[in-house]
Amino acid sequence: MKIYQNLFIVINAVNGSNFQIEQQCPQCGAPIILDEADRILSCKFCRTRVYLATDNIFHFYISPAEGISETIYFIPYWRIKGFSYTIKEKEMDIEHHNELFSYSISPAIKGFDISNKYFDINFLSLDSKLLPHSLGLRPQAMKLKFVGSNEDAGKFLKFSPASRDISKNDYQAWRDNLINDYQTHMNGIHKEIFIGETASVIYSPVYCANGRVYDAILKKPLDLQTKDVEVEQILLSTPDEKWHVEFLPLLCPDCGADLPGEKDALIVFCSNCNSAWNPSTKNFTKVKYSAWQEQGDDITYLPFWQLKVKVDGIQLESYADLIKIANLPKAPSEVWTKTPFYFCTPAFKINPALFLRWCRQLTVAPPPQDLIADFPVKKIHPVTLPVNEALESSLLTLSSLIADKRNLTQLVSSLHFTLEDSSLILHPFRASASQLVHTKLDFSMDISALNMGAYL
Ligand SMILES: [Zn+2]
Ligand SMILES: [Zn+2]
Repeated sequence: MKIYQNLFIVINAVNGSNFQIEQQCPQCGAPIILDEADRILSCKFCRTRVYLATDNIFHFYISPAEGISETIYFIPYWRIKGFSYTIKEKEMDIEHHNELFSYSISPAIKGFDISNKYFDINFLSLDSKLLPHSLGLRPQAMKLKFVGSNEDAGKFLKFSPASRDISKNDYQAWRDNLINDYQTHMNGIHKEIFIGETASVIYSPVYCANGRVYDAILKKPLDLQTKDVEVEQILLSTPDEKWHVEFLPLLCPDCGADLPGEKDALIVFCSNCNSAWNPSTKNFTKVKYSAWQEQGDDITYLPFWQLKVKVDGIQLESYADLIKIANLPKAPSEVWTKTPFYFCTPAFKINPALFLRWCRQLTVAPPPQDLIADFPVKKIHPVTLPVNEALESSLLTLSSLIADKRNLTQLVSSLHFTLEDSSLILHPFRASASQLVHTKLDFSMDISALNMGAYL
């Protein structure tokens, strides 16, 4: 694998490195520290609760040092963090670490690996060979602010090239483009599937004085090899970027009740009228959900996405089709041909090995029959994985389930997935020692693995 060392600095190969954001309460002005994954701001002074929304991705900046009178220019960097899976033919002479599943039908036929890796990187998103290629560890060491929180902060440079030809209001296109950019820079090694990632723009400040360009945090000249004038030209000529975070009151659009929710929840549930909402793109959109009801007050419900996906290139309409494709040990039955097939994935972040295990286990389990729509549920684990990322996992789940691994890479690259319908299914779990046990299916999940997921 060829890596452009100077373009990328992998900050941290493990989880647990979320950065922090300083933000004032929009109601009373009290200072609040947010975690990067937080979507709900709660003020403990005035009790205000608002949802942090944007059309595209979040824009943050690092504050310059005090006492700089020159104009501050903010240089944009992309930042992505999460995990990715790679499906590839097994190279027999290479040792594989971090391998989740590997298959081999006979020694004559190549096997397949699904491997995963964490990544946490940032890279310059301006077309310049002179400016620093990466922010290094800065975003973790310093508190960030939302772009737009201070009108007089300076000039925020418009970024490129990932923003080419993208409508401002299309998060999905932004994300895809950013990931494309990342893969191009990484020399397009193989097909990677990105899940649970956080994408944002982080601005770092500079200023010009005495014919030099200075880092505005350290107040030291950048090492530009006497090309300071050239860089100053870029700073002056690049158009500026406008952005601000939206604060949405957390009120149910249907009944007006306050919407509760953990700080990192992407979906909020109204316990007054039993509805669920996705506020992320400024309009609250209603989310279908149903619960697999269980008796008792000690039940915690974990959210899973149930996806109706049209897969071009393979017959996968009914549960009977899945039995055939995955060679499941189930007797053929008329019922299965009438049971629609769904992909099922966790709707919360969890480590990649467990994530894929749950995708497989729940996708091969026949869909639950006795679901109750809009069921009043008290304890729900927050939804932290959006539906579009859940959809990405379909390819992964399917390739790990297909029994006939011959020509798998060919097949996998020809498949096309379209999301036709989705809903959240709340599955019942009961705590038992350090485990949460699915009360219907008897699967268990380590409670600590669930809590760790918040940092992925
Ligand atoms: Zn307040
Ligand atoms: Zn309501």
